[in-house]
Amino acid sequence: MSARFFRAHGDFCASHPWEVIVATLTLTACMLTVDQQHPAPPPKPAIRFCAGCLHEAEYNAADVIVMTIIRCLAVLYCYYQFCKLQKLGSKYILGIAGLFTVFSSFIFTSTVLNILRINVADLKDALFFFLLLIDLSKAAMLAQFALNASSKTEVKNNIAKGMSVLGPTITLDTIVETLVIGVGTLSGVHRLEMLSCFACLSVLVNYIVFMTFYPACLSLILELSRTTSIYGKKQCILSKAFREEDHKSNPVVQRVKLIMSAGLMLVHAHSRWPFKEDDGDDVGSLVVDQHMTLNRTEDTALHGYIMKWVTLSADHIVILILLLALVVKFIFFENKEDFAEKMRASMSESLDKESNELFKLNQELKSKLQPEMPIFKSSETFFLGKSDIDDKSDKSSDVEVEDKAVQTTRSDLNIEGSSSDEDQTSVKKTCRTLEECLSVYNDSDLGAGALSDEEVMLLVKHKHIAAYQIEKAVDNPERGVGIRRKILGNEANVLSALTDLPYRNYDYGKVMGACCENVIGYMPVPVGYAGPLLLDGRELFVPMATTEGCLVASTNRGCRALKLSGVTSSIVGDGMTRGPVVRFPSLVRASAAMKWMETPENFAQIKAQFDSSSRFARLTRILIRIAGRYLFIRFVAKTGDAMGMNMLSKGTEISLKFVQNEFPEMEILSLSGNFCTDKKPAAVNWIEGRGKSVVCEAVISSKIVTTVLKTTVHALVEVNYSKNMIGSAIAGSIGGFNAHAANIVTAIFIATGQDPAQNIGSSNCMTLMEPWGETGDDLYISCSMPSIEIGTVGGGTVLPAQAACLEMLGVKGPNCENPGENANQLARIVCGLVLAGELSLMAALAAGHLVRSHLRHNRSTTVLPENVSLASGISTKDNLLRPPCKDIF
Ligand code: NAP
Repeated sequence: MSARFFRAHGDFCASHPWEVIVATLTLTACMLTVDQQHPAPPPKPAIRFCAGCLHEAEYNAADVIVMTIIRCLAVLYCYYQFCKLQKLGSKYILGIAGLFTVFSSFIFTSTVLNILRINVADLKDALFFFLLLIDLSKAAMLAQFALNASSKTEVKNNIAKGMSVLGPTITLDTIVETLVIGVGTLSGVHRLEMLSCFACLSVLVNYIVFMTFYPACLSLILELSRTTSIYGKKQCILSKAFREEDHKSNPVVQRVKLIMSAGLMLVHAHSRWPFKEDDGDDVGSLVVDQHMTLNRTEDTALHGYIMKWVTLSADHIVILILLLALVVKFIFFENKEDFAEKMRASMSESLDKESNELFKLNQELKSKLQPEMPIFKSSETFFLGKSDIDDKSDKSSDVEVEDKAVQTTRSDLNIEGSSSDEDQTSVKKTCRTLEECLSVYNDSDLGAGALSDEEVMLLVKHKHIAAYQIEKAVDNPERGVGIRRKILGNEANVLSALTDLPYRNYDYGKVMGACCENVIGYMPVPVGYAGPLLLDGRELFVPMATTEGCLVASTNRGCRALKLSGVTSSIVGDGMTRGPVVRFPSLVRASAAMKWMETPENFAQIKAQFDSSSRFARLTRILIRIAGRYLFIRFVAKTGDAMGMNMLSKGTEISLKFVQNEFPEMEILSLSGNFCTDKKPAAVNWIEGRGKSVVCEAVISSKIVTTVLKTTVHALVEVNYSKNMIGSAIAGSIGGFNAHAANIVTAIFIATGQDPAQNIGSSNCMTLMEPWGETGDDLYISCSMPSIEIGTVGGGTVLPAQAACLEMLGVKGPNCENPGENANQLARIVCGLVLAGELSLMAALAAGHLVRSHLRHNRSTTVLPENVSLASGISTKDNLLRPPCKDIF
């Protein structure tokens, strides 16, 4: 109930940040104004009771001792808080929490103190009290909740969720703190009484600000910083997977706090209730009198106090020594890395022990085959730091199953430590029963996010959560992927294999429902660049994702050869296709339908239907082929900056339904009848074109051919004719009149998030070479590629790494001024770079360099044992020792 209230409240603050902030600030300003307009009330005793029985000397001694203890405690507590936040390793959390605490504690509280006309001079000591009351961890927790979000709406939800989790605890804590500190006002030590008053006020103001101003600020900060991709970073910043349940208060502690509050309330009521005054006894009036006398004395002694503060007294020396000791300890003995390293080492040590024990236990359990309990290898959930990996490399394979997220770990983000924290928690937690897990899962406030990994696995095993929907169920894509890996690892016994497949620190939000299902990680592929490629007067550095050594180097050499002359390109066709197969009762009806669709007026109607399906897809023509009573209808459409397959499917479906109105007997057998033709070798794409049809040409001087390509024009033309023309004809090739266009196409496709399977049609290419110029000493080269299926929106182009590569080329996303221009430009780049690649490889073949360069750059030395003689007569040892091949670069 209370959690729901706090959740609704948090949701309100997060969704209306400006309103809440403005309201809080206006209220503060009003309080200040009220204070200025009205004459100050006569100074009241800050407390109503004092130790009238204490002599002044005793009072001063007690005061100094108490204050020194408080100051020392405050310094130690601050140090502890700082170390605690340091472990979080997040500058955002530290920054946000620190800023909030400073703001709320000092600005708001001093405003309230000002309103109440409390002597500001006493704030000096109150500062130490404030330090004691500062609890950065709560602010940090809420910040953690918020930063754990991957979108704007998720931020609001997470803040609301955080408030529902932290709200009740903080409320209770505030009550307890106020009551406990309130006891200080009964202490009899005057300054302690006064400071206790300040502290109570501070706690209350802190609470109000935490419940209103802070969530609003948090929401606003994250909203404003979303352009700086804070969400993208947050997975790394919050390397510790955030678990809401870990922040929920222990119910026993809550109960103790409640009982304590009730008791303290009684104490306060007893000590302050007016019946004391009602008694009208002499003791009461004597106390007030004495107190007022003390106050007056204090006012006149203000000057003395100031002098006392400035001079270095014994208590100051104690605090100074403590402060210095802590600073020295932190700088020299608790270096950040060392500290984290030590933590990790000790943690993994204890985990090791535990994992071995648990592993043994699991083995025993496995042998007993208890069906309702999932069996986990304990060590599967661990992540260990690099040093741990090294240490363990010689241990048994069962222990060597730590996740190799380190492959992609950025050193500045301290991922290892935190992930091990989370894993440790999940291992230590005992799995609840299926019924308990189900009730948590079905609780709208908790859900699967509040279950441990093992408990989620239990629900998946019993089909309460679909295996493909784990990410959605736990509301945390990365955690979902991690759980799926564990399930797969256990079921398929491939746990150790999965350790080399990274999965952490990836924006799965963009993958889910768009790019991949049943995700278990991502594949890191090396990305190189070739360039500058001078294309249509622009210099471009083209990213290529490949594992084929030599490819980038070779293409780069082609670019170098083209650096002076440059490449000229032209788009000669644009039309993505979809070719459904439909059937009629007879050949007569099929041919009638064919003629009907080919009639210009009817085509216009079909086009209107098709075009209505998208803002960018525009039907340009229909190509129909008949086979008996079957019709194959190839819809051709421009698709703006998208590759367009989905768009074509959508438009085709609508168009066919329209045709069906005219020919109700028409059966739609398949939306794709292979006349498209997508991802299969087909002459129709080669002849008719598909996607973008591009042609590129260049003229290279004989000097460059000799110096850069290390061959002659004559040799190049001859090899091109015999290999790419005659050879391909002999092979019965369709569209394969080239040396290796697919190499360049695929490398760019992978780097820029294209559908890699479409390299089949997209690599159709004819490379032509001729002697050029009056003397025929120069080289003319052209590449004609009729079916480059490519786009800059949709599919994998939205993924951050792929989008980065598109950005390198200046073609990221849609072209708003001229839709389709980005995709066209990317197609030109592909064709231009294919030309460079063709030039270089053909030159290498003509000069007989191919085998040599491949052996040097494309053969892993782990494949060949040392000193094995190669066909070219170069040993593998020579390969390693020689500098990079100049023939290629
Ligand atoms: P898509 O992401 O499905 O569609 C493109 C979307 O971007 C459309 O919603 C379009 O708006 C919008 N858009 C915004 N600005 C645009 C612009 N300037 N130009 C074009 N569209 C713009 O992408 P798709 O290219 O059609 O499909 C690509 C996906 O299809 C890839 O994931 C690929 O792997 C997959 N694929 C599917 C098939 C299949 O048979 N369905 C076959 C092969 C590949 P509108 O809504 O107004 O059109």
